[in-house]
Amino acid sequence: MAAHAPRNVAVLGATGSIGASALDVIARHPDRYRVSVLAAGHNVDALIALCVAHRPDHAVIADASLYPRLRDGLAGAGLSTRAHAGDAPLDALVADAACDTVVAAIVGAAGLSSTLAAARAGKRLLLANKESLVLAGELVTGAADAAGADIIPIDSEHNAIFQCLRSRQAQGDVSRIVLTASGGPFRGRSRSELAQVTREQAVAHPKWSMGPKISVDSATLMNKGLELIEAHHLFGVGRERLDVLVHPQSLVHSLVEFADGSTLAQLGLPDMRTSLAVGLGWPERIDSGVPGLDLLQHPRLDFEAPDTDAFPCLRLAWEAMEAGGTAPAVLNAANEVAVSAFLQGRVGFLSIPALVEDALAALPATPADSLEALLEADAQARRLTERNLAGHLSPMSAEIR
Ligand code: NAD
Ligand code: MG
Repeated sequence: MAAHAPRNVAVLGATGSIGASALDVIARHPDRYRVSVLAAGHNVDALIALCVAHRPDHAVIADASLYPRLRDGLAGAGLSTRAHAGDAPLDALVADAACDTVVAAIVGAAGLSSTLAAARAGKRLLLANKESLVLAGELVTGAADAAGADIIPIDSEHNAIFQCLRSRQAQGDVSRIVLTASGGPFRGRSRSELAQVTREQAVAHPKWSMGPKISVDSATLMNKGLELIEAHHLFGVGRERLDVLVHPQSLVHSLVEFADGSTLAQLGLPDMRTSLAVGLGWPERIDSGVPGLDLLQHPRLDFEAPDTDAFPCLRLAWEAMEAGGTAPAVLNAANEVAVSAFLQGRVGFLSIPALVEDALAALPATPADSLEALLEADAQARRLTERNLAGHLSPMSAEIR
């Protein structure tokens, strides 16, 4: 039993995959945590249903046109939950006394503003929204340092690294961080075999159940590229100490090699509730609902090098990380536009890396130390990629729709 009042948790992206996992873990520990804020993008009915189940003080829908439905739905359900709409009220709630812990699980650059608000307000920040670190990593980690916010990465790889790094005192003794990658649904395919793959195939991840955008990112290996940039910001290591290893079983979530030759890994079943329980409970370990790993049931652990010819997004992310400045913001924005177009059946799978590469070539990196400069690079890359979509329109798009 926790001796103190329960911690107030804001779950941003509550209707998504990570949101559901977070709410599952929180509901296992009513003495430790209560849900105080729930926020979602457009799915107002799902948000109201979550409010009925978790009775938060506040609910926020990003799409302002849905505010009346949210307000009336909450009242109709007999809830005292206050309705809000838009980004500014969300940022204000994240920053004020409504919560002390924030699960940042909005997908895409749309999550940057609330992630920054939580960091600036010194909250415990359970950071799933990797795009905010790719877009503005130094600003997010700098704000967290200045305000004393603890960032606990929720991405399974970074959560694994976070745990492994707690086995030593100083920074300097880490010789290598190895991110594992499942390889996604198309592991082992050649570039030419990828030309005709469909949305349904791309989002059918072999090991993880996730939202559509990150599922496509896993299929292109852009997810691993974004995670390299994420690791660079979270752990302060450069390219020379970062590596990627394909591990199809998704049981080893990442590895850290130390100066003395020790390599530590974190293992577990592929279920995001483990990372979320680490984030909620740390430094204590709490029940996540995930059973322990029985290696006799999973006796094989395979490892192979990533294929950057078939999956150029990983190479593009390495290059953007090395270029620095605005390049990761351009990479991320072009990727968001391209993935969205792919999910709508407008362009083929191979157009995703092509569109990202075009954006990086057309918008060379410039130094960027302000949020305005990064948001401008993000907006420019979105406009450019929207225009470039015309040249990629899929011959299959009509029949897919
Ligand atoms: P998802 O698509 O399942 O859910 C996204 C959530 O964000 C939804 O609740 C949606 O309503 C909300 N949202 C979208 N736009 C919004 C906006 N403008 N304002 C407010 N809310 C908005 O996505 P997911 O798989 O849960 O992923 C969420 C984040 O976590 C992503 O950044 C992803 O990369 C990261 N992540 C996810 C997993 C996973 O297993 N799903 C693993 C690691 C990291
Ligand atoms: Mg991950």
